[in-house]
Amino acid sequence: MKLALEKKHELFREEVRAFLAEKLPPELAEAGRLTTSSFSEPQHNLPWLKILNEKGWAAPHWPKEYGGPGWDEMQKYIFSSECAKAGTPPLSPMGLQMVGPCIMGYGTEEQKAYYLPRILSGEDYWCQGYSEPGSGSDLASLQMRAVSDGDDYILNGSKIWTTQAHHANKMFCLVRTSTDGKPQQGITFLLLDMNTPGIRVEPIITMAGEHEVNQVFFDDVRVPKSGRLGEEDDGWTVAKYLLEFERGGGSSAGIEAALERVRIMAHAEAGSDGKPLASDPAFKRRFSDTKIALEAITVTEQRVASALAGGKNPGAASSMLKTARTEMMQRIDTLGIEAAGLYGNVEQMAARQPGSNVEPVGPAHSLTAMPRYLNNRAASIYGGSNEVQRNVMAKLLLGL
Ligand SMILES: Cc1cc2nc3c(=O)[nH]c(=O)nc-3n(C[C@H](O)[C@H](O)[C@H](O)COP(=O)(O)OP(=O)(O)OC[C@H]3O[C@@H](n4cnc5c(N)ncnc54)[C@H](O)[C@@H]3O)c2cc1C
Repeated sequence: MKLALEKKHELFREEVRAFLAEKLPPELAEAGRLTTSSFSEPQHNLPWLKILNEKGWAAPHWPKEYGGPGWDEMQKYIFSSECAKAGTPPLSPMGLQMVGPCIMGYGTEEQKAYYLPRILSGEDYWCQGYSEPGSGSDLASLQMRAVSDGDDYILNGSKIWTTQAHHANKMFCLVRTSTDGKPQQGITFLLLDMNTPGIRVEPIITMAGEHEVNQVFFDDVRVPKSGRLGEEDDGWTVAKYLLEFERGGGSSAGIEAALERVRIMAHAEAGSDGKPLASDPAFKRRFSDTKIALEAITVTEQRVASALAGGKNPGAASSMLKTARTEMMQRIDTLGIEAAGLYGNVEQMAARQPGSNVEPVGPAHSLTAMPRYLNNRAASIYGGSNEVQRNVMAKLLLGL
């Protein structure tokens, strides 16, 4: 199924293409191409955010009153699709897609006026402090304490798997302010400064050999109560709202670009019989099945997006899209490894490190096939594991 574009959307697509051709510097496009995580490093995504912000295009999903461009759903889709094709460095979702909408929904006027422009400009770079050792899927069991002391809370405990905490100057986090009642009660949502004394960030190196996640330790960290989002002990409401944006936000444009990379590799690679992999009927069938399934996700996404156009939150559809997209990504990565063949090896991972003198071999896209595969194993875990998303769907949609 192909959705035909109306004339105004065709013109918009031309405008986006012209903007990307003029404003995306080659070194940022190269960095975007080499990004194997769900978003790039700040030295690449922040300069790109600045360029977008100057144009007023930094936050396609934000309402106009807070600095969004006022696009309809098709324009947002076209924009993300063209960015993915051009290889723009993926922006961090932590501010723009996650805490930003929560500040709009639950923040005071003062918090909105302070934080939202700083997200758009990149002045604040956010990380997410939800998970703790022993509290991931069962998030409501979190233990990190915040004890009230005058105008401040004093925090003790630790957060884990905190993506890019080593780059962030701000964290949004969940803390326990009370142990009375159900575990969901007594949780408070806080916005805090990562430079506050008593915070220590320790790296965790992933199996792809990258430093992306961390454990963050809090030792008598004093956080002003003015950084609280929503009411004390009612942070669970904000947390759930945010998770819907985390899981349901974005689009599959990046996944389409990933499938296109596989297509290019499969045509370039010569198999043992000298023929490209793309000529193998079994591979062609797997590739076509994947493409059809991806189109079904894209159409579902657009259906969900138009239902949300009125500004409603995504609800259970976010669990469905999160599960479908991450499993699709992993399916494409597996095809990618097949297409990259011997080139998707550890030597290639070394070659993509800045300053490495290992020469890349094989088609350019094979360079990132293995790191992508390894990184995306985490996609069905982060943002809430897919098993847990299936539980959510069973409960909310099937009434089980
Ligand atoms: C790369 C990466 C980046 C991350 N970034 C962040 C971040 O920036 N901030 C943050 O706060 N967190 C982050 N996380 C943490 C992530 O949200 C958790 O890993 C996730 O929620 C799973 O929790 P857990 O690791 O404690 O696993 P567990 O909850 O211990 O789960 C272990 C296994 O049991 C299964 N399981 C658990 N409960 C159920 C159930 N009820 N029914 C069926 N199966 C179940 C799970 O699906 C999983 O397979 C990140 C994780 C990864 C891998």
